[in-house]
Amino acid sequence: MCGIIGAVAQRNIAEILLEGLRRLEYRGYDSAGLAIVDYPGCVTRLRRVGKVEMLVKAAKQQPLISGTGIAHVRWATHGEPSEANAHPHVSEQIIVVHNGIVENHELLREVLIARGYFFSSETDTEVIAHLVHWEQKKGGNLRDVVLRVIPQLRGVYGIVLMDSRNPLLLMAACFGSPLVIGRGVGENFIASDQLALLPVTRRFIYLEEGDIAEISYSDVSIFDREGKLVNRAEIESSVQYDASDKGIYHHYMEKEIYEQPMAIKNTLTGRLNHCEVDLSELGPNADAILSQIEHTQIIACGTSYHSGMVARYWFESLASIPCDLEIASEFRYRKSAVRKNSLIITLSQSGETADTLAALRLSKKMGYLGSLAICNVAGSSLVRESDMVLMTKAGTEIGVASTKAFTTQLTVLLMLVSKLARLHDRLVEEQDILHALQVLPNRIKQILGQDKCIELLAQDFLDKRHVLFLGRGDQYPIAMEGALKLKEISYIHAEAYAAGEMKHGPLALVDDNMPVVVVAPKNELLEKLKLNIEEVRARGGLLYVFADQNAGFNNSKDMKIISLPPVETVIAPICYIVPLQLLAYYVAFIKGTDIDQPRNLAKSVTVE
Ligand code: GLU
Repeated sequence: MCGIIGAVAQRNIAEILLEGLRRLEYRGYDSAGLAIVDYPGCVTRLRRVGKVEMLVKAAKQQPLISGTGIAHVRWATHGEPSEANAHPHVSEQIIVVHNGIVENHELLREVLIARGYFFSSETDTEVIAHLVHWEQKKGGNLRDVVLRVIPQLRGVYGIVLMDSRNPLLLMAACFGSPLVIGRGVGENFIASDQLALLPVTRRFIYLEEGDIAEISYSDVSIFDREGKLVNRAEIESSVQYDASDKGIYHHYMEKEIYEQPMAIKNTLTGRLNHCEVDLSELGPNADAILSQIEHTQIIACGTSYHSGMVARYWFESLASIPCDLEIASEFRYRKSAVRKNSLIITLSQSGETADTLAALRLSKKMGYLGSLAICNVAGSSLVRESDMVLMTKAGTEIGVASTKAFTTQLTVLLMLVSKLARLHDRLVEEQDILHALQVLPNRIKQILGQDKCIELLAQDFLDKRHVLFLGRGDQYPIAMEGALKLKEISYIHAEAYAAGEMKHGPLALVDDNMPVVVVAPKNELLEKLKLNIEEVRARGGLLYVFADQNAGFNNSKDMKIISLPPVETVIAPICYIVPLQLLAYYVAFIKGTDIDQPRNLAKSVTVE
């Protein structure tokens, strides 16, 4: 995690760096720092613990004027969040910002100390600065030096560095952590995410694995890891609107919750024709691969894992295709057996989730039939490295707690299941699925219309320390996702159970101090769910039931019913997460937590 921005221009870039950091803050917010070169050899470095605003405040106290600089927001992996550990790190004239982890930093640190270097931080990053400094003594230009340093580093990284004696040049190296170059007229930029550069350009070049870039205000040259000049395509970003604008909303998360009908509409556009799902974007060979599949293996983390859980119900019930699901950080470190003709499906909002990416890379040596990524960020590593890709088209998601990326992932997964079922001649409910997908944006809109009553409900949770979430069938993962949302942003401990599991232990927890939230759409499990609800009630539990208005629940002293408009059964999981997102949001809002940037977290988990 973390965000990097660098600029080399014929104008003052200080404000560009600070604005870039504000836009990258979702990636890490332990500390922020920048370094500019005022004139050859003269560096101003400013670092602050905490949010970018702390750095902005500090920047107001002293003039920062320069055409060249680099900046960083940190999500600490090595060394506590402190000013000494904040980036950029320096070794005399060498100034470095880094995203990722240098795995062999301990060894390198020992070697460098033996060579006489003094370390002023506990970070792994500082070894890069000293190593570049050391190698520079052996001669060659900065590119030669970087080419000699890179093979000595193990791990994943995006690095941007400069030599203060030559302030007209930035060097970047990309390995496992994304970097995008922004092209301007008489100025060039580099960042971890194009969002940071939208105020200054729409022309982007994505670096590929192993690339090294030399960036001056007039030129950009890219080299592969052998130092051979390579050509990387420049793309014109079609981003229509600036996702960093919150508009009328208090938080990005709130904005993103309400954007869901539109996001899902975008996801569906061009993919539904009147009688079947059209996923021709998968490429000409896709049908041949997909019709051979006898098994799917889903790999994901966090919220994406929950959408994978819902998808497992769909794969098996709608397409009769066996499906297994595993958390990426578990999958990558165990020996697993590959089922015959299995497709690996990876899910990640950012496409940079380190564990998911590592699992994908590992799977390539394991004998899977192919890989398919479902992702929200074009050009991300997962997208580039997968055989087939389906984009979720949710638009940039900035709130750390994922919302629209989840519901659009589910939308794509349902389309994929529908396509696979057709290819395997197993689809009995194709027209129902198509109809449900078509009405989905509207259904979500109707559910969002219940926001006021959910806001009122939120009051009840403020003094609670624990909350249980219950669901059955494809609503069990929704209960899990609802619990995760509450945990992430309100810091209330929440756990989810398959409702039928309560009597095997968790019922012991139930008392009048622990709210039990239940998701209860009208489906074939409703009657069973009602029995589980009664079990909780009989033990004095306090229930909050998000139920279909026709599900036959009545409000009572110990049970509050949040009536939701009827929705088609197959899309019920996509619809029922929305009120739980709102609940978590309002609880956190009233508690006054930092909703978009909850403590200890960051948006894309690009470290292990
Ligand atoms: N490993 C580096 C550190 O802890 C970089 C972390 C990051 O990507 O923000 O400073």
